Amino acid sequence: MPQYDFDLFTIGAGSGGVACSRRAGSHGARVAICEEDRVGGTCVLRGCVPKKLLVYGAHFRHDFEDSAGFGWSVPEPTFDWKKLQAAKDKELDRLNGVYKRLLRDSGVQLIEGRGRVVDPHTVEVAGQRYTAARILVATGSHPFLPEMPGIEYAITSDGALSLKELPRRVIIVGGGYIAVEFAGIFNALGVQVTLLIRGDTVLRGFDDDVRSFLTQEMRKKGIDIRSEVFVRDIEKRADGTRSVLSKMGDTLEAEAVLFATGRIPNTRGLGLEEVGVKLDARGAVVVDAGSRSSVESLYAVGDVTDRLNLTPVAIAEGRALAETLFHDNPLQLDHSGVPSAVFSQPPVATVGLSELQARELHGALDVYVSSFRPMKFTLGGRDERAMMKVIVERGTGRVLGFHMVGVDAPEIVQGLAVALKCGVTKQQLDSTVGIHPTAAEEFVTLRDKRPDPKEQAAEELGHEAAKK
Ligand code: NDP
Repeated sequence: MPQYDFDLFTIGAGSGGVACSRRAGSHGARVAICEEDRVGGTCVLRGCVPKKLLVYGAHFRHDFEDSAGFGWSVPEPTFDWKKLQAAKDKELDRLNGVYKRLLRDSGVQLIEGRGRVVDPHTVEVAGQRYTAARILVATGSHPFLPEMPGIEYAITSDGALSLKELPRRVIIVGGGYIAVEFAGIFNALGVQVTLLIRGDTVLRGFDDDVRSFLTQEMRKKGIDIRSEVFVRDIEKRADGTRSVLSKMGDTLEAEAVLFATGRIPNTRGLGLEEVGVKLDARGAVVVDAGSRSSVESLYAVGDVTDRLNLTPVAIAEGRALAETLFHDNPLQLDHSGVPSAVFSQPPVATVGLSELQARELHGALDVYVSSFRPMKFTLGGRDERAMMKVIVERGTGRVLGFHMVGVDAPEIVQGLAVALKCGVTKQQLDSTVGIHPTAAEEFVTLRDKRPDPKEQAAEELGHEAAKK
């Protein structure tokens, strides 16, 4: 067996790369990790963490407004964007330090600089070559910007998280996770938000009830959602404002234009194709269920593989790989039943199948849907509702999907994700006692099935035939 400098060399110190490296180090492997930016990756530096801090910051506006109904008199609150940004940046510095310490404590050597694969066992960083028995590519993804005139005047989520001034108006293009999350943040901070989507409702791929309910709730909050809009170009005016022209000929103006139009894997310039690593049409590393690429000694986890682009998934993929390679404990992540949340206002959380997917895969279903005004908003007078949906396989009673839009949805659905993994049935939900008074108890008290669309149509046909 040839001697290598390391047992594992990881390129990219984000969630997946750090998780795999630390776990490998804890099992005694000699590990190095290289990073061209700060340690932490998208989630910690430019994604989940700073975004959630802004969501918390923005939410206070609603809390101040609602407090009057509970007897509070609060003088007109003022908001300082720069203060929030500074506090957020300080927290990111702290987390960057924590990540570095965690790597050190696991015996992982951090090498600063951009890594490039030279051959299946060699990585070059800043002119220095390192050999390793295995190489892990965990380089993440970056925002995708469609080509159009003036696209350089748009910002991405990276820019939105570090805006020096809070714009008076913002135009957001896209209707996915990032678009609806930033629409909620800016709207709550008093910015006039226009959201331009290509379809009718936001969040393509989610359950249709979730999509229409969230679209409606966002509109109620004053977000101007314009459907079936395709942007043609962007111009920068002399006063610095941007004007956005749609293909239908409408013009919109704002101080900032945010494109949240998806992300693409970071594989360019890494030398991957040169050593025989297969990439897909979007440039993602093609891997098997054990995260191995088409080159035996090269592996990849996280967004760079474009499987399920979520931080906890990247972490779980990374840990499973380290267990398999360095602890004689073969593990593969099950990518089904992974819960996810969108920190929109109100938030969304979901686990399992949408109604459409469930009908395609399982046939007859029983669907339970409930919509109500959470108790929190009764005295405060806020016109915000919550929606919960449970999708059940009719033959077995097994729950196939839980969906919620409303306050605390992500906190509630995490527990239900455990139940779904354990194969929970509707009967077991019914036999569970609720915690009162909560919104969550609705999930164990749902009784009324929504009429089955097929049965309803057949019944109507029957009535028609009887009339003839
Ligand atoms: P998404 O894939 O979620 O959404 C992309 C959106 O952009 C869609 O609405 C899509 O429209 C639209 N779009 C794509 N191309 C164009 C175009 N050329 N012109 C106009 N609109 C376009 O991407 P995001 O950027 O929101 O997020 C990237 C990923 O990051 C997510 O998929 C998720 O995996 C992850 N993420 C997770 C979060 C969480 O867990 N809370 C938070 C943020 C990100 P259409 O539907 O019509 O195709």
